[in-house]
Order: sequence, then structure tokens, then C-alpha cells
Amino acid sequence: PRNYFIGGNWKMNGSVEQVKSLVEGLNKINVPAQTEVVVAPPALYIDRVRSALKKEIGVAAQNSYVKASGAYTGEISPEQLKDLGINWVILGHSERREYFAESDEFVGEKTAHALNAGVSVIACIGEKLEERESNITSEVVTRQLKGIADKIKDWSNVVVAYEPVWAIGTGKVATPEQAEEVHVTLRNWLASNVSKEVADSVRIIYGGSVNAKNAAELATKPNIDGFLVGGASLKPDDFNTIVQARS
Ligand code: 13P
Repeated sequence: PRNYFIGGNWKMNGSVEQVKSLVEGLNKINVPAQTEVVVAPPALYIDRVRSALKKEIGVAAQNSYVKASGAYTGEISPEQLKDLGINWVILGHSERREYFAESDEFVGEKTAHALNAGVSVIACIGEKLEERESNITSEVVTRQLKGIADKIKDWSNVVVAYEPVWAIGTGKVATPEQAEEVHVTLRNWLASNVSKEVADSVRIIYGGSVNAKNAAELATKPNIDGFLVGGASLKPDDFNTIVQARS
């Protein structure tokens, strides 16, 4: 059985005050056995979050670059994340693909570099509304997954996050059946193109308008191994409900 994984993606939200109160709320969460919880603050706040947050909860960056150091103004390396005790990074989020023109290939390169540096990766994929409506969801998500599979061999430190773009920040959550169907497609693709072992062991989590009310029903699906939560991760009580949704 795969451990349950709950990520909280704060995106570009928070202030010194808000981050302090979020950490206080998170420190009250009882992390159940076989459950992994990781939160991703904006880079500016990462160090203070890592220092103040209890060790049962992991911390992720929201992005990292493909070099260890050098003249890359504005970027952050996985090696630097490790230096601060940050063991996770979210890569390939649809907002980065869309607003910062990140390609499937670049997301694959970033994933490979982070893993080589010893940083685990939450790798995001997902189709846009017009792609779903054109019935090309499977093609899109497997193409994105291939961008990663082409660049890495070891999947043991990867969590795949399926986040349909039409569900992100819209309040329009995928139905448990819609999410499960894509997760099965991804697992089958991994079984055929990587290995049966990887297909069986990799966590595939769902993201897109997950909240305290809909998480438990989504969590009943056998191929949904947890969630990547945006808006609701900024409310510690709601986030806690999602963390407890499978137990
Ligand atoms: P929302 O939960 O706000 O829809 O965001 C999902 C997301 O993009 C997490 O990475």
C-alpha cells in the first residue's frame, strides 16, 4: 500500500504575520501514520517556515533551477534548498507552464536535476479545459509524464500530481470518477513505459479545488494517493481535515 501524501501549495500568498499564524496552525496538526504532509511556502519564507515548523511536516519549494549555482539571476537551486533542510520541490505546476512558458522537456530536466541533488519532486501535470473538451486528456497527461520519464530513471522520490487546469482555483473539482480515470491512465502508462514496480509504487495525487468537504470522497478511490491543495492549504483547520480525510 502506498502512503497517503498531502501537499499544501501556498503559491504567492502570505506575509510575515500570516506565515507565522499558518505555522502555528500546522504545528497543531496530528499527522496520522502512513501519511506524509509537505507544505510549500513562497521561497522568501522557506527558511523561517522550516525553522518554526515541526519536523513531522516537510517543506517544499515551488520551483527550482537546473544548475547548482552561477549567474542565473532570480533562480534557486535544489542544492541551496538542501542547504536549508528543504527536501521537496514542486515542479511543472500549470501556473509555471502557462505564465513562465515551461515546456515538458524543461520540467523533465528540472526534475532530474532536483532528484540528483537529493531533493524529492512533486511533479505536476494536467490538461486544460479545451483539451478535455477535445477528448485529448490522456494524450496531454501522458505526453507531460513522458517529458519526465525521458529524463529520470529512479522514481522512488517522485510524487505525481494530477491537476486539471480547469479545476485549479475555480471551485470546480474533478469528480472522484474523473480523477480516478486519469490516475489509472497514468499508472497504466508507467507500467508499459517505465515498469510495473514504478506504476505500483509511485504516489499519484490529485489537485484542483480540493477542500475540507470533498477530500474524503476523493480519497476513497484506490488510485488517488492524496492531494495537492492550494487555497484550502491557507486555512489550517481545512487543511487538517484534508490531512485526516483517509484515516
Ligand atoms: P486550488 O486548491 O486552489 O484549486 O489549487 C490547486 C493547486 O494548484 C495546487 O497546486
